[in-house]
Amino acid sequence: MTEFPFRCFIGLGSNLEDPQAQVCRAFDELAELPQCRLVRRSSLYRSAPVGPQDQPDFINAVAELQTALEPEALLDQLQAIERAHQRVRKIHWGPRTLDLDLLLYADRTINTERLTVPHPFMYERGFVLWPLVEIAPQLSLPDGSTLAQRLDQCPMGTLERMPL
Ligand code: ATP
Ligand code: CA
Ligand code: CA
Repeated sequence: MTEFPFRCFIGLGSNLEDPQAQVCRAFDELAELPQCRLVRRSSLYRSAPVGPQDQPDFINAVAELQTALEPEALLDQLQAIERAHQRVRKIHWGPRTLDLDLLLYADRTINTERLTVPHPFMYERGFVLWPLVEIAPQLSLPDGSTLAQRLDQCPMGTLERMPL
């Protein structure tokens, strides 16, 4: 089997309707995507919500994929999975059954109407960086910085890694 050429990372999050099951199902759906291979899945992490505080805690995780899809085609696939989880967009940073963010795509920097990569807030979000370092400890980032340097600026705080 020829390996798909581009290494990328997806952030998963859910805080509605059995979030752990939503995230586990999303991992399985990522594994089924065309022209993609799911390489690694992180543990699940519990985090306090960003934005409005009057909503349940989140379950977050990160997946590593090898893909042949171009970034916007991959985003289409991620959004199709979100829709399959009956995600409804109501309030900004509000509760959701499933959120899939494209965190990193090879070493590319992308700024289009639909897509900003690296994901604009990933470096300030512990619930992204800690699962990411769990599965890709040696990763270097498109700007030449390392994950270790980024983690120094982003303490684990109340983030909780859940037992397997
Ligand atoms: P945040 O971006 O702060 O994590 P969010 O995940 O709640 O917030 P959404 O409502 O899921 O935001 O997405 C809004 C739009 O963001 C999407 O329609 C998509 O086109 C755009 N977008 C830009 N960059 C990315 C990215 N790297 N991954 C996923 N969506 C992105
Ligand atoms: Ca998000
Ligand atoms: Ca999103």
